[in-house]
Amino acid sequence: MNIDEFKKFAGASIDYIADYCENIRDVAVLPNVEPGYLSQQLPKRAPEQPEHWTKLMTDLDESIKPGLTHWHSPYFHAYFPTAQSYPAIIGELFMAGIGAVGTDWESSPAIVELEVRVMDWLAKILGLPEEFLNCSDGPGGGVIQNAASDSTLVGLLSASDKKIKQLKRLDPRTTKSEIRGKLVAYTSKESNSSVEKSGLIASVKMRLLPTDSEGSLRGRALNEAVSKDLAEGLIPFCVVASLGTTGTCAMDNVEELGEICLKQGMWLHVDAAYAGTALACPEYRYLLKGIEYVDSFNFNPHKWMLVNGDCSAMWFRNCKYVEEAFEKKSTLSQSVVPEIERWQIPNVRRFRALKLWFVIRIYGVDGIQKHVRHHVSLAKHFEALVNADERFEVVISSLGVVCFKLLRDEALTQVILEKIAKRKNIFIMPYYYKSQLLFRFVVCSRFTQYEDIDKSWQEILSQTDEVLSKKGE
Ligand code: PLP
Repeated sequence: MNIDEFKKFAGASIDYIADYCENIRDVAVLPNVEPGYLSQQLPKRAPEQPEHWTKLMTDLDESIKPGLTHWHSPYFHAYFPTAQSYPAIIGELFMAGIGAVGTDWESSPAIVELEVRVMDWLAKILGLPEEFLNCSDGPGGGVIQNAASDSTLVGLLSASDKKIKQLKRLDPRTTKSEIRGKLVAYTSKESNSSVEKSGLIASVKMRLLPTDSEGSLRGRALNEAVSKDLAEGLIPFCVVASLGTTGTCAMDNVEELGEICLKQGMWLHVDAAYAGTALACPEYRYLLKGIEYVDSFNFNPHKWMLVNGDCSAMWFRNCKYVEEAFEKKSTLSQSVVPEIERWQIPNVRRFRALKLWFVIRIYGVDGIQKHVRHHVSLAKHFEALVNADERFEVVISSLGVVCFKLLRDEALTQVILEKIAKRKNIFIMPYYYKSQLLFRFVVCSRFTQYEDIDKSWQEILSQTDEVLSKKGE
């Protein structure tokens, strides 16, 4: 492809993306295809001869688009939001165009220095304490990871290495594997599956503890589990708390958990993958209660903060532990810039700071706050609609997530959800919570407006009416 063709391809692509976004409201949120639909269309071998880009655009439209779930449709209410915004799309484009990767500072100074600075901006936007900042005098700092899953794993590996080294210093005769075999980490039953997976990868026991009636992991449950494990000669070493669980967006009690962590010498990692973005608004900063106990903290700008994936922000109170865990030696004799490549699993980094920088500058803190408040207000509007119908009850509502149930006949929830799924007008999911089947509704798209929420609610109502009238209610 020559430069002229590249310019034409790029121009046509931007037009395509702009049209896609502009018309997303009119496209069915869920695809209407059967498994294998695409495999039947795709040739079994790669083309021998070069093809023209216009052919690709046609195939994109005719073969790929019909099989897409439109995550940015205003009628997408499943999972959590995945971020997309114009500045971040352009940031991705520049990242690809520049095509550089950063390892240490010398590999590409701008990549490292921009990341160091925007991570400080971000920490300040969220109201994280000074100790976590790259620019602070202390040993803390922040880095962009691929995903919250990586952040939890990195936190867990840092914590286990810290504990193993501490215990070996006390008793040099014990082996690392003896200690590792006794390590226990804790999280709640409601935490994301990636937390349990990180325990598997790190080869440590991960206890899934019960939550209170609000879905929050409390000090009491942790205390009981820790006491039991200590009595059995095990070594509690880490707690992974969730601010915003995946199912119901419940908030663990970081302060209560932190007090126990301090007493027992355990590392406290906070996973705020979705809800962390809300901290941009001062009215949600109360969620940071107990942050003084936290050793590492992570949230995903690629979920709710308008930065296309992948972009997961992670901070450490003391980076020494992650550096020691990865045994990554310093490459600079006197580092002016933090060596952030020592705080992550891959050796290289893509220029992800660019899209974060674009989003923060083009939206401003004000724009990010407006986005959060708009989504929360849409969720409140939806909650009011549910509450106004006496057949339903809101079980939990937190930020952009509303979980509700059918009051008289829970068994019909499944039938209603199946009917909604078949019609493909909106995308919502079931969630099993404390033995109840709930409707889980999330405000996801940045394009969603009040009328869209009304329309989604009408879809739920129409299917409920149909199912209940058949049952003669
Ligand atoms: N933590 C929470 C609370 C989540 O909701 C999710 C995903 O939804 C994750 C972690 C995993 O995020 P990632 O895909 O960035 O690993």
